[in-house]
Amino acid sequence: MDTNVEASARTVMERCEILGGYSEEPGMLTRRFGTQPMRQVNERVAAWMHDAGMTARRDNAGNLVGRYEASSAGARTLLLGSHLDTVRDAGKYDGPLGVLTALACVQLLHDRQERLPFAIEVFAFADEEGLRFHSSYLGSKAVAGTFDPATLRLADSEGITLAEAMRAFGGNPDLLHASKRDGSDLLGYLEVHIEQGPVLESLNLPLGVVSSIAGQSRISVYFSGEAGHAGTVPMSLRRDALCAAAEFVLAVETLGRSLPGLVATVGQITAQPGASNVIPGMVTLSLDVRHQEDAVREQACRQLQEQASSIGAARRVSASWQPLQPNRMVPCSPRLTQLLARAIEAAQYPVYSLPSGAGHDAAALSDLTEIAMLFVRCKSGISHNPAESVELEDVAAAIEVLEQFLLLLAKE
Ligand SMILES: [Zn+2]
Repeated sequence: MDTNVEASARTVMERCEILGGYSEEPGMLTRRFGTQPMRQVNERVAAWMHDAGMTARRDNAGNLVGRYEASSAGARTLLLGSHLDTVRDAGKYDGPLGVLTALACVQLLHDRQERLPFAIEVFAFADEEGLRFHSSYLGSKAVAGTFDPATLRLADSEGITLAEAMRAFGGNPDLLHASKRDGSDLLGYLEVHIEQGPVLESLNLPLGVVSSIAGQSRISVYFSGEAGHAGTVPMSLRRDALCAAAEFVLAVETLGRSLPGLVATVGQITAQPGASNVIPGMVTLSLDVRHQEDAVREQACRQLQEQASSIGAARRVSASWQPLQPNRMVPCSPRLTQLLARAIEAAQYPVYSLPSGAGHDAAALSDLTEIAMLFVRCKSGISHNPAESVELEDVAAAIEVLEQFLLLLAKE
């Protein structure tokens, strides 16, 4: 392994630690959009961008953008990056690893005083997880020009609207259209991210090339029966909403297991009135369905909706179904993905392609330009958890591959 690359990986690991120290909550890592810790990590990363010979600016949505100029004026631009916000009680690598490996590659170019025939912009997105306003890809949607202005009226748990938070952070919600990146000079967007799953580890591989980002349906399902006294209403006369929901949860699991590639999850459930001596009259549950093919996902949702109705009907419980905006499947660019595979071969790692079950900023940016993603193995597939962990060697491998990718792209 190249000693420069190893030193560079060490720096990335140290910087992940440093950024992991900026949190809203003591004893755990939580960094939401527009907060003081977000401001602090932006300042730290901007300083590192300057060290790497980049200019750094913050756009109206609160994204940080570093730019490393090309060897000649009027050249095209490659976008790299990921996000700096986190979930609650997060790990240190989901997001920052992508920003910092990109930065590490620019630093290596700068150290060699090397310019490429294209410019590089490193994006550190302000809000991917949507923890504060429950709206994902806020930062990357602003850059892609697909930001829905109605989102600005969403309020956080303290009643502060997104528009207010954006202003307080130094951005301008009225000028969000100015954050849209012009796509005409772009070569594409490449994001490095931890896998957030166990596949690479199980195959003993440091890296994977993402083939596509799975589509996702999120649905609120309601079962409405009749609350009653747990001691006096005979079993045969009950309309127990929670029993219907329980049957439905198992139907979701059965369908998920029966179709290859389908994942279906009930992650939240509430029963009302919610007392030990009362038959549950009303249940609300969340349903999350994902597959690499939109048609399979949509068919699975239709099938589950029918099952909810028939399970309810048999129990005299009504079932209703409220889908939230689905995310369609996003294919990665064949051109960039092939180039990435060649870069992995050039760095002498095995090429392995896998779909992403999780959503990423790359999905939002696919509305602007071609996208590709490189996954880095993470320990036991654990993510969105303080136990999130990556190996130094794997980070070095990612930097090496990203460097090779830049060289191959420069030759094209
Ligand atoms: Zn992420």
